[in-house]
Amino acid sequence: MMKNNEDRKMHKATCSECGAETEVPFEPDPSRPVFCRDCFMKKRNNSRRPSGGGGFRDRGPRRDDY
Ligand SMILES: [Zn+2]
Repeated sequence: MMKNNEDRKMHKATCSECGAETEVPFEPDPSRPVFCRDCFMKKRNNSRRPSGGGGFRDRGPRRDDY
């Protein structure tokens, strides 16, 4: 049927953070920064809270009611 492989084409891009060459599974948007995996993870971890600790603990509003 359809070739699924075509869909998984990787595009070369340059990380906007560290300048490393990386590949992204989508077409890099010139108007948006592209990050390599390392920087992407860092961004994800950092953008939530500057001083968070674990991070996945404060999911629910109540913590007494487990
Ligand atoms: Zn990077």
